[in-house]
Amino acid sequence: KRVISTQIQEEDLQTETSLRPMSLEEYIGQEKIKGTLRVYIEAARQRQEPLDHVLFYGPPGLGKTTLSGIIANEMGVHMKITSGPAIAKPGEMASILSNLQENDILFVDEIHRLNRQVEEVLYPAMEDYAIDIMIGKGASARSIRLDLPKFTLVGATTRAGLLSAPLRDRFGVIQHLEFYTPQELQTIIEQSAKKLGVEIEPEGAAELAKRSRGTPRLANRLLKRVRDFAQVKYDGVITEEVASFALDLLEVDRCGLDKNDRLILLTIIQKFGGGPVGLETLAAAVGEDSGTIEDVYEPYLVKNGFLNRTPKGRVATALAIEHFKGI
Ligand code: ADP
Repeated sequence: KRVISTQIQEEDLQTETSLRPMSLEEYIGQEKIKGTLRVYIEAARQRQEPLDHVLFYGPPGLGKTTLSGIIANEMGVHMKITSGPAIAKPGEMASILSNLQENDILFVDEIHRLNRQVEEVLYPAMEDYAIDIMIGKGASARSIRLDLPKFTLVGATTRAGLLSAPLRDRFGVIQHLEFYTPQELQTIIEQSAKKLGVEIEPEGAAELAKRSRGTPRLANRLLKRVRDFAQVKYDGVITEEVASFALDLLEVDRCGLDKNDRLILLTIIQKFGGGPVGLETLAAAVGEDSGTIEDVYEPYLVKNGFLNRTPKGRVATALAIEHFKGI
């Protein structure tokens, strides 16, 4: 298993719950989103109405589920969590919706993976808080409309463009999550260390932050791994030296790149003369799914200037070539 994968892993489940910020105050960074949400939440609370439907998009591990939970907390309502691939039939969606309570939040992760029929149940539900159910068969079949409690749908996806237009248009609030700065990650790491009861020096936290790919999920996971090293090999304190040593062992380099990032960049440089190379060709060459390359690895590589997406394909930048000099 990749240590650095930003997708959720078994080992995260327990810590994710205990480290998850519960209020907007505790939620570090994403200032623009927090500002917008504060206004919407306040207005909805004053009107005693549910919040408008919200779509969060951005790479995994940046805090979409966490934000949804915070909205529920601040609104004083329950949150039901599900995901696109988990709902196979329209009836299952109808049943989830009709079991919500007034003003509740329904969080749908990977919402772009809902199948068409299930998605269609959401249209009247989002628009009119109602679902249409077919009764009877053949010539006597007719559709009846059932009212639902008022609710807020919070959808999460890696790219807004993956959603069908009719679904995307039904969200009143669409927000993009950005990668975190090293400073923000350092604060998150120090906050998490406190919750975990681990002693960490600012330089140790800074070293972890630099190598966390701009992603809180990864920062927390690396913190836990490094804590183990500190406990076993040192006297329990995470210093810069411990952090750096442990991360080298985990093969996370100084730019936060891991084995797969390096494989992708080196393949472009060595096999395709630096590019341009088409996404599918690149995916075949590294043995990875093209969607995963596009949504999970590339955003960070593009953001940090290692890779460019051009109309002719992917290109390794001068920075990437410099990074791998001598390899
Ligand atoms: P996503 O839903 O985008 O994949 P999550 O909301 O599950 O990401 O976040 C992963 C973990 O990262 C959470 O458990 C939480 O502990 C941490 N986290 C995410 N965003 C923040 C933040 N802004 N401040 C502090 N911790 C965060």
